[in-house]
Amino acid sequence: MPDILNQDIKYLKGVGPARAKLLNEELKVFTLRDLLFVFPYKYIDRSVIHKIRELQDDMPYVQLRGHIVDFETEGEGRKRRLKATFTDGTGFVELVWFNSINYIQKNYKMNQYLQVFGKPSSYNGRISIAHPEMDEVGKVGEVSTGLQAFYHTTEKMKRSGFTSRLVNDLVQNIFDAVKDCIPETLPSYIISEYALMGLNEALRIVHRPANAGQLPSARRRLKFEELFYLQLDILHYTKNRKRCYAGFVFPVIGENFNTFYYNRLPFSLTNAQKRVIREIRRDVATGSQMNRLLQGDVGSGKTLVALMACLMAIDNGFQACLMAPTEILAEQHLETIRKFLGDMAVTVELLTGNIKGNKRKDILLRIVTGEVKILIGTHALIEPTVKFLNLGLVVIDEQHRFGVKQRARLWQKNIRPPHILVMTATPIPRTLAMTVYGDLDVSVIDELPPGRKPVKTIHYYETDRYKLQEGMRSQLREGRQIYVVYPLIKENEKVDLADLEAGYIRLSQMFPEYRVGKIHGKMRPAEKEEAMQDFSEHRSHILVSTTVIEVGVNIPNASVMVIENAERFGLAQLHQLRGRVGRGGSQSFCVLVTKRELSETTRRRMKIMVETTDGFEIAEEDMKLRGPGDLEGTAQSGIPFELRIANILKDTEMMSVAREAAAKILEQDPEENFPQNRIIWLQLRRLKKQQVNFSAIS
Ligand code: ADP
Ligand code: MG
Repeated sequence: MPDILNQDIKYLKGVGPARAKLLNEELKVFTLRDLLFVFPYKYIDRSVIHKIRELQDDMPYVQLRGHIVDFETEGEGRKRRLKATFTDGTGFVELVWFNSINYIQKNYKMNQYLQVFGKPSSYNGRISIAHPEMDEVGKVGEVSTGLQAFYHTTEKMKRSGFTSRLVNDLVQNIFDAVKDCIPETLPSYIISEYALMGLNEALRIVHRPANAGQLPSARRRLKFEELFYLQLDILHYTKNRKRCYAGFVFPVIGENFNTFYYNRLPFSLTNAQKRVIREIRRDVATGSQMNRLLQGDVGSGKTLVALMACLMAIDNGFQACLMAPTEILAEQHLETIRKFLGDMAVTVELLTGNIKGNKRKDILLRIVTGEVKILIGTHALIEPTVKFLNLGLVVIDEQHRFGVKQRARLWQKNIRPPHILVMTATPIPRTLAMTVYGDLDVSVIDELPPGRKPVKTIHYYETDRYKLQEGMRSQLREGRQIYVVYPLIKENEKVDLADLEAGYIRLSQMFPEYRVGKIHGKMRPAEKEEAMQDFSEHRSHILVSTTVIEVGVNIPNASVMVIENAERFGLAQLHQLRGRVGRGGSQSFCVLVTKRELSETTRRRMKIMVETTDGFEIAEEDMKLRGPGDLEGTAQSGIPFELRIANILKDTEMMSVAREAAAKILEQDPEENFPQNRIIWLQLRRLKKQQVNFSAIS
């Protein structure tokens, strides 16, 4: 039987070519099925009838019953409008139309008993309702009595009179046309295992609920389905990739790893670090290529994990490289790793854009001969001139600055793609990571090394500056060091740098007995490096800088992070900056300095920073504050299908359940030939095809 839901939307009763065009272009609806999967964004209880006497302009919507007693048109051309005076015996209200005027005049007459629905607003001291929905009482369809579903329509649709109400009617026409023949999209064993509602019932309820109580289970069913296919697609793709790309096998845990672990490691690993190392170990021993994302809050000890992964590679005859987003960070990694390795016979070198001439030639040669075992650097590492003898592992630090394309170039550095470990301290909620970085396996270090005291965060207004200075003085007296960070925005660079210079001078005068250093992007690399060295070797006590120190820098003796104009930083950035302190044993502080007048969301950002140091919590708050536009936009761009009912940030529990369900199917039915799963693969193919259609059109 041909699937009636595949029918072109153009042929649905009430549509026709013009409306079909709008549906295609504005809502990406091409078939009856597509329209059934356009879900309402809200519901309004239409069983309540208001009295005109009670109307206020702050009511979200009202529903009235009465008669039109007068029609009147005003204005000419584009300014033409139709006004009707409407009464229910308790008062009068004005109804106004700016378009569809002829239609209204033709279809609604004075003295008809009408039900009117719309948003009241106040104009010239009178309450009016623009573009109300109107039905003749007695002929009112079901839509106007129980809960009414509301659909998003675009500006262009609204201009052509294509209202939410029309979508409502069209959906009703689909239900009339298909009767109860909406084919199920999940196998019955899954429906019963997860106690789901059938598709037919769920769709009917979601579009036309009899009461609010029905909605949760209907929505649950539809969300599950959406997330299930999303996860199935991701896992399916990942499985195939793993099958395609054979990876190098590191069978042994050898001398370097063991020497380091048993003899050189100055502390014991946290359980989280151990777990992640085991996960990496398992990946590199299997024969498929590792693509792992390592998430860990700032200071959780990712560098050490990376180093131990490098040692695994080296013990198996391979080279490793570590890419950092900035030169300062690359240099710091070099220093840290050399210090960790001490006198072990592992050659570590640095390669950045700054290293030129003979020195560069020499390093390049020692890479290609295989003498250099660990190469640390910036983007320069992926240039074609850098040739390895046998590159087996690439660690990428602070992933957000490396694009997927740059990652892909690394794959050409050996006959097989090297194993890849991506480290990031920008935490995103786990389920989101699973989805957005769908092709990466995710490890999490969710534990800080012992003995860390959480950083105390304080919010001061600029007018409280004297308190801040007292605090700084007492920390300096105890031998601690202080960062003072200023925002730097390209468009505003001059002003920002002037702020920084002024701060530098003020601090130099305030603390004449201490040395104040500064770093900003306009300085030459050598100058920057010198300032950084001075601070890291405690020759300077206060470092005034722009956000160049945002990521990775590790100076345990620095115990205070002052962030000037903190209102201009996002939550993630504030959290990163704060992570620069609290790395030693002593109590550290982060001081957020802002002006006094703050917007509601900025105030909330400061409050969150003061209240929590948990990176995951902050990430989640960040997404909530930034709202659905921004982050969901980027998050959504990483996923294979557009989500229509589930929310990638909010439905995290459902996401885990759906992922488990999908994983189980791939595991139990790897050849994809169980008859009970036929329906699943069909649906997945249909969704993929739909997605191709969309991109071809938009
Ligand atoms: P991340 O890169 O995750 O922000 P780092 O690797 O820079 O963190 O580690 C932060 C600090 O913690 C470093 O000084 C590091 O030597 C130290 N560290 C790492 N692991 C441990 C551990 N298990 N116990 C104690 N200190 C640790
Ligand atoms: Mg780091």
